[in-house]
Amino acid sequence: MNTTTTPVNIETATLIDEFKEASAAGRFLLRWCPDCDRPHWYPRPICPFCIDNETEWRESEGQGVIYSYSVAPKSDNGRVIAYVTLSEGITMLTNIVTNEPDSLAIGQAVEVVRDLTLSGLPLFQLSNTVAKP
Ligand SMILES: [Zn+2]
Repeated sequence: MNTTTTPVNIETATLIDEFKEASAAGRFLLRWCPDCDRPHWYPRPICPFCIDNETEWRESEGQGVIYSYSVAPKSDNGRVIAYVTLSEGITMLTNIVTNEPDSLAIGQAVEVVRDLTLSGLPLFQLSNTVAKP
């Protein structure tokens, strides 16, 4: 069995731990490349666009729209699996928290749920159900 781990894998695991810790504290972070000024998902130490290795954390606005979604069978409590496109331009796989999955539509505005996580990953809800500060 090969137990060798490359430095990149160690760094990626560290970034994912940092992401999950921030998420548990209610912060939704994205990894950005300052060189090409673009975010990427999932968090990686090397920019997937320009291969720069100086990526950094920036807080996401947590706003997006439903790109696509699917409602799991009722036996799974109507769980909604979705792709959400963030205002920063990233499209990410996530879950949408809703009691009315039949009312969802592609293009609806959603925002991150800051006090709920599933395995440390951000969840989203329709933005009109969120109290604005
Ligand atoms: Zn870059």
